[in-house]
Amino acid sequence: MTDLTSLTIAEARAGLASKSFTATELTDAHLAAMEAARLLNAYILETPDRAREMAKAADARIAKGEGGPLAGIPLGIKDLFATRDIRTTACSKILGDFKPPYESTITSQLWRDGAVLLGKLNNDEFAMGSSNETSCFGPVVNPWRREGSNTHLVPGGSSGGSASAVAASLCMGATATDTGGSIRQPAAFTATVGIKPTYGRCSRWGIVAFASSLDQAGPIARTVRDSAILMRSMAGHDPKDTTSVDIAVPDYEASIGKSVKGMRIGIPKEYRLDGMPAEIEKLWKDGADWLKAAGAELVEVSLPHTKYALPAYYIVAPAEASSNLARYDGVRYGLREGGRNIIDMYESTRAAGFGAEVRRRVMIGTYVLSAGYYDAYYLRAQKVRTLIKKDFEDCFAKGVNAILTPATPSAAFGVGEKGGADPVEMYLNDIFTVTVNMAGLPGIAVPSGMDAQGLPLGLQLIGRPFDEETLFSLGEVIEQAAGRFTPSKWW
Ligand code: GLN
Repeated sequence: MTDLTSLTIAEARAGLASKSFTATELTDAHLAAMEAARLLNAYILETPDRAREMAKAADARIAKGEGGPLAGIPLGIKDLFATRDIRTTACSKILGDFKPPYESTITSQLWRDGAVLLGKLNNDEFAMGSSNETSCFGPVVNPWRREGSNTHLVPGGSSGGSASAVAASLCMGATATDTGGSIRQPAAFTATVGIKPTYGRCSRWGIVAFASSLDQAGPIARTVRDSAILMRSMAGHDPKDTTSVDIAVPDYEASIGKSVKGMRIGIPKEYRLDGMPAEIEKLWKDGADWLKAAGAELVEVSLPHTKYALPAYYIVAPAEASSNLARYDGVRYGLREGGRNIIDMYESTRAAGFGAEVRRRVMIGTYVLSAGYYDAYYLRAQKVRTLIKKDFEDCFAKGVNAILTPATPSAAFGVGEKGGADPVEMYLNDIFTVTVNMAGLPGIAVPSGMDAQGLPLGLQLIGRPFDEETLFSLGEVIEQAAGRFTPSKWW
C-alpha cells in the first residue's frame, strides 16, 4: 500500500469513499509520522487519543454514508486557535496551561465536517515573527535543507509549525493565520500552498488576537485543490465576529481547472526591488509566462504607496497588539507571578510571561498610541493604509483580475541567521505580503520553483475582495506548470 501520509486531501477523500483504507488507518499513519519527526518541533502538543476517537467516529459516519466533506481527514491546528479542553497557548509562556472552555468557530466547522485533530502546531509567540523562532517552545525546523548541507533552516513564520507539518506530511492540511504574511511566507519557504482569505471571510472568533484589523485565518495544504477544499469548511459568516461578512461560501473546488483565458493579471512595478535576487526575478517572469500561456493577459500596474506598507504595518500591528495583549494580566489566564500589590503582580507576570519580541511590540504599540505621538504615528499610519487600499482599488477598477508578485524576497534561511542584531532584517521578509493585509485583500502563495541551493520559492497572487475563486483558478495554473515539490526525508 502507498504511504497514506503522502496522499493529498482529494486523494484521501476518494480512498476513504471507495473503502481502500479507513480513517483510523489514515490517522494512525499520521500519528506514526509525527512520532518519527519530533526533531522538527512542528507539533507542540499531540492528541493521539482524541485523533483516534475522531477517526473512529468518522469511520462510523462514512459507513452509514453520512461522512461530511472532510470526513476522516487528519489536520494539525495552529496553537492560536482555541480548542476546547485542549491546551492553547499561542506559544507564549503567559498562557501557561490554558485550556479554553470553548472551541474556535473555524475549528468547530472543521470538526462539523468530519476532520480529525492530530494536535496543536507551533508558531511564533502570539504570531509575531517570520521564522517561528519566537515561540516559547523553541524554533520549528524546515523539512527542506540546502543541497549538501545539514544546517537547520526556518520554515518561516508565524505559521511555521503548520507549514513544516504539511510539507513533511505530518498532517494533510493545517490551519494558519496571517496578519502580515504568516500564511503565505511559510508556505513559500516550504513548497506548500497557503491562502489568506479576504478580511471578513473567515471568523476570527476563538483565535488568539494579534492585530484584529489585519488578522485573518486560512489553510496551508500541499495542493491548490486541497487548500480550496479546506477553505470551504473554514469560511462562513459568524455572528460572534462582527467583522465576519454574511455572503454565501462558494464551492471553491469548482474553480480548479476553470479557464483563466482573458483574465488581466497586473505586474506591479513597485515590487521590483533594487538588488532583488536574479532567481526571484526569473521566478516572477516564469509565473507571468505560465499565466500568459494559459490565455491571461499581463499588464504592468502601479501600486505607488507600496514602500510605505511595511513601516505603516509596524505601527498599526503593534498598536493593536499592545491593546489586545493588555488582557494578559495574571488574573484571567494562565501564568501568574507573585507581587507586593496588584500593579507589581501585573508587572512581574507580564515580564516573565512575554518573550522579547512580544515585549518590543507592546512597547512600540503603547508608544505610537500615547497622547503625544498618536497623531504623528498611529493616525498617519492609518492614512497611509487608506492610500495603500486605494492603490489596489484603482488597479482593480482598470479591469485587473489579480496581481502577480513574488511571495518572499528570499528562500528559507538558517535558524539564528536573521534578525539577531536588527529586528528590521526579520520584518523585511514580509515586504511583499503586508500590503495585502493592510488592504484586506485575499492572497495565495503557490510553490513555483527552486533556488540554486535546492530550496523552494513561491509566487503570490493577490485578488479582488471576496474573489478567492480566481486565486484558486490562477494558482492551479501555476501549480500545473511548476509541478509539485516534496522534501526528501532526512529526519
Ligand atoms: N511577520 C509579521 C509580524 O511579525 C507578520 C506575522 C503574521 O502575519 N502573524 O508581525
